Amino acid sequence: MIASSEAIVLKSFDYRETSRIVTFFTKNYGKISGIMKGVRKDPKKFGSSVDKFSSNDIVYYRYSRSDLHLISQCDMTQFYFPIREDYKRNLAANYVMELVDVVMQVEQVNEKIYQLIEDFLKSLEDVRDINKLVYMFQIKILALSGFSPHLDSCVKCSKKVEGRVRFSMQSGGLVCQACPTQESTLTFISRGSISSMIHIEDKDWRQCMRLGLTAAVQKELKFILNNFLIYHFERTVRAQKFLHAS
Ligand SMILES: [Zn+2]
Repeated sequence: MIASSEAIVLKSFDYRETSRIVTFFTKNYGKISGIMKGVRKDPKKFGSSVDKFSSNDIVYYRYSRSDLHLISQCDMTQFYFPIREDYKRNLAANYVMELVDVVMQVEQVNEKIYQLIEDFLKSLEDVRDINKLVYMFQIKILALSGFSPHLDSCVKCSKKVEGRVRFSMQSGGLVCQACPTQESTLTFISRGSISSMIHIEDKDWRQCMRLGLTAAVQKELKFILNNFLIYHFERTVRAQKFLHAS
């Protein structure tokens, strides 16, 4: 079967002398991997050098018995030059590509996540607060992939939460003061962080861009989101160093 789609490069590596294996997140078919034969011998054969986090129009032969397909065309549509020029923006984009690769299963189609990645990359070209953009991406990809943390009541007893609230990485949500728990992955979370997370889940990207996050909320979100992601996804994200450098 011949398939075509818009596609963003999540990762790629050289294969044998002349080829390259590329993992794309495609708009129409979700995450797929394919071989680009001869691309290193004759880069003009494809209109793209398949740089990480570039957008491309691809055509490929989809094999039903293999997860590795044959890419026949790859034309770059967006290079995101300002991101590549800046060390920190580059790290943030690399982190997000790895996060998509870890969170999304092969051929799990999600057009909203495709749009989210594009929104993220476009904003990353000139935004000042890079960290806020990464927290927005983390919260939204969790919500859109069905891993949203439970934030509107206690995850254990379902009662409304009041007073000092804790967040459990393990249970994936808020825990009230009345619920005893032996979990070691508990941390206090402020009202400001809870309402910021709910706001980011509910509103569209442009509205979220206007949201202000205080330094205290950013610090809390960083700790909670990173630990939540590490806890729930076996493979830790290598580009996590972005988050320590930031
Ligand atoms: Zn409770």
